Amino acid sequence: MTTRPRILIVYTGGTIGMIEHPVTHTLQPFDFSHLMDNVPKIKKLDYVIDNIQFDPPIDSSNMSPKHWEEIARAIEQHYDAYHGFVILHGTDTMAYTASALSFMLENLHKPVIITGSQLPIGEVRTDGEENLITALQVAAAVDESGEPMVREVAILFNNSLWRGNRATKMSADNFNAFYSYNYPTLANIGLGISFDTDALLRSPMKRPLKVHYTMDPAVMFIDIFPGITEATLSHQLNTPGVKGIVLRTFGAGNAPSEPWFINQIQQAAARGLIVLNVTQCVNGGVNDTLYETGNTLTCAGAISGHDITSEAAITKLMYLFGLGLDTETVKQYLNCALCGEVTV
Ligand code: ASP
Repeated sequence: MTTRPRILIVYTGGTIGMIEHPVTHTLQPFDFSHLMDNVPKIKKLDYVIDNIQFDPPIDSSNMSPKHWEEIARAIEQHYDAYHGFVILHGTDTMAYTASALSFMLENLHKPVIITGSQLPIGEVRTDGEENLITALQVAAAVDESGEPMVREVAILFNNSLWRGNRATKMSADNFNAFYSYNYPTLANIGLGISFDTDALLRSPMKRPLKVHYTMDPAVMFIDIFPGITEATLSHQLNTPGVKGIVLRTFGAGNAPSEPWFINQIQQAAARGLIVLNVTQCVNGGVNDTLYETGNTLTCAGAISGHDITSEAAITKLMYLFGLGLDTETVKQYLNCALCGEVTV
């Protein structure tokens, strides 16, 4: 390995690499060479930068576990040859990919920085150029002992670096598109890059990377709302083939305490379905001892998701089911942080 930072860019698609179709004027994914041509400043970094790209690049609304596998495989295959990895990705499902990769890449000791942009990189006012360059710098950053500064999956967007499994897309319009409502920034980007070493993930031991490729999609969200009927809830809870449900509840994890509602949850839990209680609020989490309506849900067999994001909750279930664990072990893992995704 040379002393110049070696970074691998994995271009999956998204607005950052899009151009306008000359006839329809809609944005469409373009070839990666378009991206590099538009950011000549990258050469000034004096890094060794290689890239690989999805064929074809995709809008991230089409992202799926098979694409996560493709990204994880690229990282595993090239893990020893690079100091860090930059994943270029659409913003729409970026928080899901970041969460999924955080679980799939066990013992990660190198930076995996995911970024994208709100405006295509070819546009005059693009945010893509800054995001890409800063992501490369973050991926190359080392601490005083020469170890990577970031040893986890993170999202770099606008002026902040967020833990991937703590971030949420919060704006469809602003450059400031991501936020982490329950965890501090890992770094603030100003004149320099200021890392918060207390917030960064640190494992006590350096172990070899272990990649888990199987993500089991037998999961779903159920969003409750005032007026939800027994028929609707029952239909959803009895969806064939589903093993785990992220139940998106009110406030501190509360749901209707009417007998039909509780019975439905009880029956689902008794059938072996995992029901993970996650709040619809962006900030704070489930506190099932606060109100009777939350406590009854727990007594019925739901598991507290604490302050986990919906994106991390659904991908954590996919990951745990992918490991082929039994129900009780899945419950235990839901109740602890595997890679900084939840405060228990
Ligand atoms: N639809 C695009 C995507 O997620 C939006 C973006 O890149 O920001 O791929």
